[in-house]
Amino acid sequence: MAQYDFANYINGTWTGKELDTITVHNPATGDHIGSVPNAGEDHVKQAIDAASEALPEWSKKTAADRSDILRKYFELIMAHEDELAEIMTKENGKPLKESKGEVQYAASFIEWYAEEGKRTYGRLVPGKRENHRIKVIKQPVGVVAAITPWNFPAAMITRKLGPALAAGCTFIVKPPEETPLTCMRLAELAEEAGIPKGVFNVVNGNPETFSETIMGDMRVRKLTFTGSTPVGRLLMKQGSEQIKRLSLELGGHAPVIVCDDADLDQTVEMLMAAKFRNSGQTCIAANRVYAQSNIYDELIKRLEAEVKTLNTGDGMKDTTDVGPLINKDGYEKVDRHVKDAQDKGANIVVGGEGEANSDKNTYFYQPTLISDANHDMVMMNEETFGPILPIAEYDKDDEAIKAANDTPFGLAAYFFTQNVSRGTRISEGLDYGIVGWNDGVPSAAQAPFGGMKQSGLGREGAEEGMEEYLEVKYVSLSI
Ligand code: NAD
Repeated sequence: MAQYDFANYINGTWTGKELDTITVHNPATGDHIGSVPNAGEDHVKQAIDAASEALPEWSKKTAADRSDILRKYFELIMAHEDELAEIMTKENGKPLKESKGEVQYAASFIEWYAEEGKRTYGRLVPGKRENHRIKVIKQPVGVVAAITPWNFPAAMITRKLGPALAAGCTFIVKPPEETPLTCMRLAELAEEAGIPKGVFNVVNGNPETFSETIMGDMRVRKLTFTGSTPVGRLLMKQGSEQIKRLSLELGGHAPVIVCDDADLDQTVEMLMAAKFRNSGQTCIAANRVYAQSNIYDELIKRLEAEVKTLNTGDGMKDTTDVGPLINKDGYEKVDRHVKDAQDKGANIVVGGEGEANSDKNTYFYQPTLISDANHDMVMMNEETFGPILPIAEYDKDDEAIKAANDTPFGLAAYFFTQNVSRGTRISEGLDYGIVGWNDGVPSAAQAPFGGMKQSGLGREGAEEGMEEYLEVKYVSLSI
């Protein structure tokens, strides 16, 4: 079996092989598949030194020169799609076809920002006197640090790296302990693409040490984080000392409203993707469904038939649709949510059982459909992060919109209707940064992904994602 043992990548050098390691396990088999260093403060400091030293040269390059390098990087990622997907499935558990989809999605951020970097225009503004001009320019933020989660081991990195490098920033990332291997392979490909030393650095190690060191160093101008809301809150507090610029992509609790005029074939297809992709472990996963009373039974019947076809297992097998949960904590949360719903009167239509093997350290949960859900149930309020779909009934659209918005989260929401007026009213009424209208797969490099309320700050993707890595300066000129 292939072993993936990596060092840290700092200043164009692979370093730290002699250190204690973080071991990486395959969540489907329990096998030990690789390791990365468990580095301390010195590696973080070395990475900050390297990124600071590389900044002047990288930021002074023309956008076209940076674009050429990023384009080469995109092509190399795509040329290694199968290999990257295999590493991803082994460390994360998601089915191989989903991993390939993620590699393509991850690469699309490098490609899109290679082009967008050429369009970081400023503007010339009429002055307040005859001999006065105001010139607005955009410049790179500087050294950027990133912390990323395990559920998208490649895309959560490139969604930050692409715009940061295109803008002229240098970059240090701490990948998640569960899935660092895809990131390390991406770093090797970055080196091969000719990204200069110090421009892209990867430090594996203790998360607290990483964030404390980053937050305490004035040379790091920004932290971009994707992960849970509690950790985001903590980082915001830490960043307040130096007023560190922050982007936060945090947790969600996506509602789905299914109106009685929805195309149910389309609804079921989209809902299956929005729920069961990555075993429900996505920040925009459908977490709760509100179905209008007159189609409620029919929707459940159709979903039941589909959910029963899903195969759970090792993502390396072609027949697998739903992989394992990432770890014991994830499993226990899902199990707690299902038991709580049952205690509060939910009806399990399909699934409802898990398979935990603590000796092997593997945790699977059956794709589960739940009817008669209500708002007293924990799963209707807290992010479940598992393959569980609870459905509640509603009568009037206003009632469904109110229930959908009754949460501290505001990342993604979905609704299904064929009626344009009705859909316009619902889309405008939802307090969410991403709204899927008859669409369960809304993510794209050219769309400004991000949340309202406690789902975060800032946007990733599109031109908004570029602004996150640019400072605005104006030059007031007397001639
Ligand atoms: P997590 O917050 O536990 O971990 C995310 C990252 O933060 C990891 O790299 C981890 O090592 C690091 N971390 C943990 N504690 C830290 C600390 N005290 N200081 C500094 N870093 C720390 O989240 P997770 O379980 O890995 O990921 C799942 C969460 O991420 C879910 O809530 C999900 O909704 C969210 N997520 C959001 C988006 C988005 O775009 N909004 C995308 C993917 C995942």
